[in-house]
Amino acid sequence: MLTVGIHCYRQIMDGPDFPILGTEPIAVEFANTRYGIGDERIDFLGTARWIEEWFTLVSARHGLPPSDEGLGGDEARVRALRDAVHNVLSAAIDGQVPETGAVDRVNTAAAAAPTHPRLDWTAGSPTAHRLDTTGGSTAVLGRIATCCIDLVTRPHSSILRRCGSPDCSLMFVQNHSRRRYCHPSCAHRDRQARYYRRHLKGATS
Ligand SMILES: [Zn+2]
Repeated sequence: MLTVGIHCYRQIMDGPDFPILGTEPIAVEFANTRYGIGDERIDFLGTARWIEEWFTLVSARHGLPPSDEGLGGDEARVRALRDAVHNVLSAAIDGQVPETGAVDRVNTAAAAAPTHPRLDWTAGSPTAHRLDTTGGSTAVLGRIATCCIDLVTRPHSSILRRCGSPDCSLMFVQNHSRRRYCHPSCAHRDRQARYYRRHLKGATS
């Protein structure tokens, strides 16, 4: 399910640098739009325009179904599912049980967009594709909800983590045992901060 990509805090005109890692399943990237902790929190899906921009950046990479009318018109539904996915993935990371309402919301979004397999076998080997039975934002949000359910229920071959840098809240799938940061730039910044703290301590003692 992981897509290979580049780290891209994308700059858009008059908009935010989106925290898109480019390496994570769509449910994780979606949850990461609720960035930061407490007063420092930024909602990267805070306006209809940002929602449109964010989905434009991630849709092709994650093979999301096309949505002609866009998702900006569905602001409240998008953010409600995002908060639910964030709650469910955070609970998985923290070893807790998510809020009932969050689980219900994820289930409702998944149930609203059932998919079915289609067998293609006209020559060579058979292949199967999953087809959507709905379209528009219902299909897109259903795909994300299904990804969230898969992530928290699949075996321990991949494990959800929160970035090891104290000033970063991004989640990621720990695809190798030594990965502690969402991105090498966070690892670098954290190493530097620890170096300066040690250096400063040494200089003042
Ligand atoms: Zn980070």
